[in-house]
Amino acid sequence: NATVGILALQGAFAEHQMMLQRLSMKRRIVVVQVRTADDLAKCDALIIPGGESTTMAILARSAGLLEPLKEFLRKKVVWGTCAGAILLSKSVENAKKGGQELLGGISVKTARNGWGSQVESFEAPLQVEGLRDTSRPFTGVFIRAPVVFELVPSPSDPPIEVIARLPPQCLPRSQTDIADESDARTIVALRQGRHLLTTFHPELTNDNRFHEYFIQECVLPSLS
Ligand code: GLN
Repeated sequence: NATVGILALQGAFAEHQMMLQRLSMKRRIVVVQVRTADDLAKCDALIIPGGESTTMAILARSAGLLEPLKEFLRKKVVWGTCAGAILLSKSVENAKKGGQELLGGISVKTARNGWGSQVESFEAPLQVEGLRDTSRPFTGVFIRAPVVFELVPSPSDPPIEVIARLPPQCLPRSQTDIADESDARTIVALRQGRHLLTTFHPELTNDNRFHEYFIQECVLPSLS
């Protein structure tokens, strides 16, 4: 069995937990909320939910979790959604005054609230590579979402695998300078090694294919 933790300091952690509990292979996983380094030590994998990245980093620091989380990233499996994706980035633009502590772990530079203030929240139908049943799109729920600004891999990093991009017709008007689909800013889901990053919120839908993908493709293979 795999123990999957959900960082439960702030944000949409209960929703992630509910999604995991509804999975058909839930018998193969134990789901726990993580608030302390002791909680984290029990986990094989961790989900960092959406919420507010600056607040989450401050709470993680005061819980004594920042260093344990960085260590965890070097050894185990982590999925960050939205604010969680920001925390997993190597660097971030539009950080709040006073700065933003990051865990790093995924070789991207993101921009907080990168879709601009006019288009803060939207939904978009996504084609996600590797999901069970790709005959129907996955609804991406973007709430003051970050934008993947740039891929910043170094030679020693595992390769980055893009698994979903925003379709051209869904690009917010604030990003009209995106000339073609290869622009990093169209990336909304990616994998690097055993880690997963999504700028949207699969836990705020009724569709558990993304959670299933995480367990099946990232978590269970890491145990063997
Ligand atoms: N804009 C938020 C942040 O900067 C992220 C929003 C979200 O997680 N829905 O942390």
